[in-house]
Amino acid sequence: MNALLKDKNIVVMGVANNRSIAWGITKSLHDAGANLIFTYRQERSKQKLEKLLDKNQIDAKLVVACDVEDDDSIKQAFQEIGDDAGTIHGLVHSVAFANTDELKGDYADTSRDGYLLAQNISSYSLVAVTREARKYMSEGGGIVTQTYLGSERVVPNYNVMGVAKAALEASVRYLAEDVGKDGIRVNAVSAGPIRTLSAKGVSGFNEKMSVIEEKAPLRRQVDQDQVGDATLFLLSDLARGVTGEVLHVDSGFHIVAGS
Ligand code: NAD
Repeated sequence: MNALLKDKNIVVMGVANNRSIAWGITKSLHDAGANLIFTYRQERSKQKLEKLLDKNQIDAKLVVACDVEDDDSIKQAFQEIGDDAGTIHGLVHSVAFANTDELKGDYADTSRDGYLLAQNISSYSLVAVTREARKYMSEGGGIVTQTYLGSERVVPNYNVMGVAKAALEASVRYLAEDVGKDGIRVNAVSAGPIRTLSAKGVSGFNEKMSVIEEKAPLRRQVDQDQVGDATLFLLSDLARGVTGEVLHVDSGFHIVAGS
């Protein structure tokens, strides 16, 4: 237990189950003394989340529905959060989606609808939630999203999601400029491959994992807990001078030539 986020109200978006990156983040934030507010999309995820919280003896300050495809749902969720918590000190955006059939084969075959869907849920959603959360971040704070190396390099099969992540990272920089004057920092963690529900949808995912053990400087896999601690750092005062940044938590894989 540390006190890096003691009494801070942090919103966590994207816990689907115990493998979710957002769950690893939840554990780190809880250990740091944060008051946790969760959003979920489907009723199924809400039930899983409540069971997980119960099992791990974590009390949620609030759990609210939020579908990031829908502006009204986002507005309503943050209004509810603001009414309940008063001030928001931090936000974790750990949400993405693309059609599975767009995560294999040639990127050139991406459909218009599939492209827009991936951008909408995986990239634009950060803009929309930042706009709503900002209204309640009167004391400043941090926003952290989750990205992947496929935004910078061509990673086979990552395709449309790589392009959505590139837009997400550019958004991190533009948003950091917008909200910096309010003392709000916006950053991203670029995690190495981790076995989660979403990762299952990317064709050839196992190879992406094994190459980390083989080629990354640290020669070991990345897990949800490592991403959780890095996200905690970015949300905490320890990172008070850091904004618009993409922090790689990938055992150093991104620095290796030919990786
Ligand atoms: P996950 O499936 O556990 O989490 C994805 C979450 O997105 C789920 O909770 C899902 O409910 C949510 N979501 C999807 N559509 C939504 C919508 N319309 N409204 C609200 N929520 C919605 O998978 P994960 O791997 O933990 O993914 C979390 C984030 O981490 C994603 O941005 C993903 O791209 C990123 N990431 C994952 C990896 C990896 O290897 N797993 C690596 C780097 C980055």
